[in-house]
Amino acid sequence: MQAARLHEYTDDMSQGLEIDDIDRPTVDRSDEVVVDVEGAGWCQTDNHIIEGMWTDYAPQDLPMTLGHENAGIVAETGDEVTLVEEGDPVICHPVQTCGICRPCRLGEDMYCENSAFNGLTTDGGFAESLLTNERAVIPLPEGVDPTEIAPHADAGITAYHAAKKAVRELNPGETAVVIGIGGLGHIGLQCLDTMSAADIVAVDRKDEALELAANLGAHHTVNSSEEELSSRVMDLTDDEGAQQVLDFVGADETTATAPEMVAAGGDHHVVGYGGNIHEPCQALVNGEFSFKGTLVGRYTELQELVSLVDRGDVELHTERHDLEEINTVAERLEHGEIEGRAVILPP
Ligand SMILES: [Zn+2]
Ligand SMILES: [Zn+2]
Repeated sequence: MQAARLHEYTDDMSQGLEIDDIDRPTVDRSDEVVVDVEGAGWCQTDNHIIEGMWTDYAPQDLPMTLGHENAGIVAETGDEVTLVEEGDPVICHPVQTCGICRPCRLGEDMYCENSAFNGLTTDGGFAESLLTNERAVIPLPEGVDPTEIAPHADAGITAYHAAKKAVRELNPGETAVVIGIGGLGHIGLQCLDTMSAADIVAVDRKDEALELAANLGAHHTVNSSEEELSSRVMDLTDDEGAQQVLDFVGADETTATAPEMVAAGGDHHVVGYGGNIHEPCQALVNGEFSFKGTLVGRYTELQELVSLVDRGDVELHTERHDLEEINTVAERLEHGEIEGRAVILPP
């Protein structure tokens, strides 16, 4: 089968991946599931993996097929699999967990001590078929298209996970700021809107992104290339600040806004990454605010997100591309030219 594989780390996205002809995966263990991929979302993390940015955090054996946002149709199941059968449409949580370590028993899938992560530590879904396990697949309700929902396997669940943490701390009338209305941000915004009664301030540097944000439920929009973000947020909140900030950019400039615009006791959730946090300890002591990291989300959170999609509460803006265009997609994302989310279709 054809698969887009990383052979060597590089900063040159125009030749990041090679399309190889490799063996189709087959079920070996009794809990495994092979999925014929119907769609795989392209993620900024794929660019970062190609650049070698994850080697200190996750073991990688190259060559490796990338692609961690996968959905498709079950093609083969191990003897003990009962959740799904051949022909079932599924979305694949990117992490295959063991189920028996302490984090797994606490429901903390992302902290599993014996996990494999598609497209990061093991082969992913930029291919005709994908090997995963029963604990990672979620059957899709009738009428939900696997190609359309694929990016929710990481982009969606990550945005949902951050939004859910924020919503727990948001009382009606309080303010949430969403920085970066791109692939993840436009999902996080909708999750906040449907799960809370907070005022939502959407922030981006592109007017089209802000128009999209307004259509998806933002109460206020701020173009941060034209306006000073923190003073605008302080104006909108009568100088209280925003109780929750979801930062889908994660650049030096966005994390630097926290001391000035996060309300006392609030949180700045770091979802996007690439930059650094350089704030004085005294600012955190004075405002008692926190920076919080976001790593994908739990299996059960992906189930919850599938329910929101099924209810029509979260829509995903996607554009579709063939597998052979994959390096062009990588380059276009690098230059901020993808609207919503790119989904790669296998041949
Ligand atoms: Zn991703
Ligand atoms: Zn585990």
